[in-house]
This record gives sequence, C-alpha cells and structure tokens, in this order.
Amino acid sequence: MSTLVPPAPTTDATDTPDPRFDDLGLPAALERAVADLGFVTPSAIQAQAIPALLAGRDIVGVAQTGTGKTAAFGLPLLASVDAGTAGVQAVVLTPTRELAMQVADAISSFATHLTGLGVVAVYGGSPFLPQQRALARGAQVVVGTPGRVLDHLDRGTLVMDQVRYLVLDEADEMLRMGFAEDVDRVLSSTPDRRQVALFSATMPAPIRRVAEQHLHQPVEITVARQSSTVTTVRQTYAVVPHRHKVGALGRVLSVTDADATIVFVRTRGAAEEVGSALVERGISAAHISGDVAQSDREKIVDRLRTGALDVLVATDVAARGLDVERIGLVVNFDVPREAETYVHRIGRTGRAGREGEALSFVTPSEQSRLRSIERTTRVPMEQVQIPSPAEVSGHRVTRLLDRAPGRAELGRLDVYREAIAAHLAAHPGTDPVDLLASVAALAVGDEGPAARTGDDLDDALERARLTPGRTERTVSHDDRPPRERRRSDTHIAGGPPRWRVAVGHRDGLQPGALVGALTGEGGLTGKDVGKIDIFGSFALVDIPGGLTADAVDRLARARVAGRPLRIRMDTGPRPGHGASRPSHGPQRGRS
Ligand code: ADP
Ligand code: MG
Repeated sequence: MSTLVPPAPTTDATDTPDPRFDDLGLPAALERAVADLGFVTPSAIQAQAIPALLAGRDIVGVAQTGTGKTAAFGLPLLASVDAGTAGVQAVVLTPTRELAMQVADAISSFATHLTGLGVVAVYGGSPFLPQQRALARGAQVVVGTPGRVLDHLDRGTLVMDQVRYLVLDEADEMLRMGFAEDVDRVLSSTPDRRQVALFSATMPAPIRRVAEQHLHQPVEITVARQSSTVTTVRQTYAVVPHRHKVGALGRVLSVTDADATIVFVRTRGAAEEVGSALVERGISAAHISGDVAQSDREKIVDRLRTGALDVLVATDVAARGLDVERIGLVVNFDVPREAETYVHRIGRTGRAGREGEALSFVTPSEQSRLRSIERTTRVPMEQVQIPSPAEVSGHRVTRLLDRAPGRAELGRLDVYREAIAAHLAAHPGTDPVDLLASVAALAVGDEGPAARTGDDLDDALERARLTPGRTERTVSHDDRPPRERRRSDTHIAGGPPRWRVAVGHRDGLQPGALVGALTGEGGLTGKDVGKIDIFGSFALVDIPGGLTADAVDRLARARVAGRPLRIRMDTGPRPGHGASRPSHGPQRGRS
C-alpha cells in the first residue's frame, strides 16, 4: 500500500476549511475505527466520495495511488452492509492478489467495531477451499481479483443476488491486465440496483465506456496529482558532502524549532546507523525500518506522537501512511530518486493545517536530481546553509537563558551568588556580563573557535558551496573504505562535552561500575556524573563539571570489568579506534 498524499486541490475546488471524519455522517462505529487508526482529517477524495456514497450515489473517482481511496470506498461500503445478515452484500474488484489482500485488511481494520462482519479475500494462485469456507460462513464483504471472483460465481460458491455495493479499484490497471471482459461479467451478474464506485488513476475511453454502461448518473470526483502539501510545506535544500551528512543533521536538529522531525533514509542499514549516531549525540531519536517488528514500530510512532521522542529516522517503507501532527520538519538524508517518493516524504509534515518544512541534503554531484523533482512539483526549492557551530551555540544559549527564570524560582542559588561574588572580588575589573558569557559558553559546550573539532565539516561545506560542479569525492578527499567513511560521519562538532570510555556492555559494563570508577579513581562525587549511555564496545558519560588532567590520567589507567577505561573527551568516532559502533543501541544507565 502506498502512502497517503494529503488533501489535494480538486477540479471542483472548494474553499471550505478541512472537514473532519466526524463531520462526514459516518456511523459511530466507523468513526471510532478511523480514530483508532489515527486518521483525523479526511483526504480530498475521502471528503468528497464518502458523503456522495453515503447518499447512495454512484461515483467515478479519478485519483492517484496514495490518495486514500480505500477508506473513501471502504467506509461507506461498511455503512451500507448489514452485519446482522449473512451473505455477500459488497464486492470489491482489484487488479492483483496483493491489492486484494491489502484492501481486505484495510476494510477489516475499519470494521473492528462491527460485530458479525466478515471480510474475505479471493484471488488466484491459492486454493479454493479456504476461500469457499469463508464464503460459506456468511462473509458479507468479498475483495478479489476479477478472474477468481468469476470462478467462485461459476462454481456457485459465491452468490451475488444480495450485492448492493460494488467497487472497481484501480480500474485502468484491471483493463491493462486484460480483465475488461471479466469486469463486465461481474458487473452484469450483480442486481441492477446496486451502487457502484469506480476508481481509476486515468480515464481512458474504455473506462468511460464502463462507467457509461454500468453506472447510474455518477458523481465525478477528480483529485489533482499534485498534493497541496507541496505548496504549503517550505521546501529547502542544502549541499552536504556524503560523509558530513550526520554532522550536518546534528546541527540542523540542534537549531530546529520543529516539535518533531522525521529523517528519511534509503536503506535499513542507514536507518540504524543514523539513528544510533543521533542517540550517541544525546538527541532523542529512534529508527524504524522493515527490520523493526510492526509492534515495535507502532510503539515508537506512539512515542513520537506523544512527545516522548523528537526525531524518527525511517525508511520510506516503514514510514508509509505515518500521520503525526507534531512533525514540523522532514529531512531527506538522501534525495529520493523518484519525485513521487519525495512528495510522499514531505507529506509527513504540514499535517492538519500546521506549518511544515522539508530540508533535503544533496551531495555536490546530485544536484540535478533536485531539478527533476522541481519539475514534478513545480515548486522551486530554496537553498539554505547548514548552521555554523556559532549558530548552534547561539541557539543553545538562548534556550538555556529561557530556562533561567524557571531555575531561579526553584531557589538555592546562594552557593552560586557567593562563588560569583568571590570570583569578582578576586578578579577586580571583570565585567559580570563577560563572566556570564564565558559561563554560558562552557554550559553549552562551546570550546571556542580554536577547538579541534576532529572534523572538517565547515571546511567541506564551504568548499561544496564554492565548487558546486565538483564531485563529492574530490570535495571530501575521502579515500578510506566506505565503512570507515560512514563511521566518521557520526561526528558532530559543537555537541555538549561527553566522555568516552573504551568499555561497553559487551564487556559486561554496568552503570554502577562506571560510576564507581569515576568516583573512586577520578575523585568525583556521584552528583558530578550525569547521563550514561552504554553501547556495545564503549560508553558515553556526561561529566558536566569536566575532569582535571590529573583525573583523566588516573582514570585512563583504571580498569573496569577487567578492561582499561581509556577515558577521553568524546570527539566522535575516529578511524583506527576499532569497532566502536553501538551494537545493541544504548542502555540508559542514569539520567
Ligand atoms: P490509495 O488506495 O489511494 O493508494 P490508500 O487507501 O492505500 O491509498 O491509503 C494510503 C495510506 O494512507 C494508507 O496507509 C492509509 O492508512 C493512509 N490514510 C488513508 N486515509 C488517511 C487519512 N485520512 N489520514 C491519515 N492517513 C490516511
Ligand atoms: Mg488503493
């Protein structure tokens, strides 16, 4: 099933505000099911088809995939079926077996609160008997391919005398597959007074003829190809060499005002890699891909919805149909090859009338792909720059200062006032604002312009800007094998200061043992030790107050879980430091 392209302008354009599912006149049991599925705003085709079908009209709907057609016909279909009476009352024809199964599943999910309602999928290439049994049990809704539906009809295992609702889904596809005659026969085998809904992405003459011959004064609904999201979401791009994408992403996420962000990546591996890299940087992130079990995916999406999670890294498949209002930013970590994929991706934001932004990372050599997307969406993308370390720090300090009044209310500031007074007395002539500025810089982890950040992100960004025609490889001077190259992607400059120890849960590291070493050998108190994230072969720990050179020396030699700690300031993974990739995701030790 493809993703939903949100409400789109229609040929008979209406300027009325978006309706809600509750306004469409659906029975309460169906409204509840739709709410369970997280649908709030009906798509354009739903908003128009549902009232017409509920009113008993035939319809012809011209709409692309991803516009939400299944609910557009499935909900009124269920409204017209009597779950208390056995026997086939509604038939949906689909071109393929996969679609038949998908549509049957979707209709079943809409029918969860209708007791006694049976949905059966019938398709070729699979034994008759189970389908026949399901039909014999009195299923009221049949979804199937035309050939198999006719087979059942001919065998007498499917009786269509009571059918009052017929749907032709993807009619043009059925015709292309040579089902024209079969479709005709099914239509002719149903009672004259049944209602018909015909959906097609295109309207060639043969489909018009079917409509003229079998439908009764149909309402025509056309949903334009281009979704309105394409025009309401601010679309931007930034030129970023491949190996610096994670670094750039970290900065973007540090300064965004969006409540929640989706980062789209192409592969499952990339989802895990980028997700873990963000977690390593202290960002509230998780990833979903085809590898993540459906139930886990749902839990993660729920956390995103409730605000327990801010960043979701996802593959296209895993994020299908995702509808979370909080998403204010979509980042395309890679530019999709298909413009349609791009449109689906950016449709995850700007939901329910909110503002949205889409940012696409494009490598210097990929810029032509943007042009082809722009040709499809007919909306130019605006080039933006990745925030500089100074901008990231500026954003952090603003947020820090915003929190200051709240902290003041909590009291116990005397200890700080006294320390500051003592400092000013000891350093006469110090400007208190200068002092506050230095303290703020330390608090946000800004070590100044001379700090060795370990990456050349800004250099690379600068060069990519100046030499847009050059290839990525030339720009990044990266000759290491791809695996190592990916590792160093995970470095982000300007993050909060964290410390890395070379012991992880593969070594059986427990948070308590690490705290023990830090307090024992390092001379810290328990309160000096902040959040600990334990990965496969290493762990990261927040020590907001920092460590003295002496303490680092002692700790570097200290052993935990039988292994030397090798503590160092975390500057991100570097080649040659071994496999430091999180193997099982972090274990939250303390926070
Ligand atoms: P189509 O048949 O037009 O290709 P589908 O009916 O398969 O589209 O719907 C595409 C996706 O959009 C599905 O995952 C579906 O659950 C989701 N969806 C449909 N309607 C809505 C809605 N109103 N709000 C949110 N998601 C929706
Ligand atoms: Mg469909």
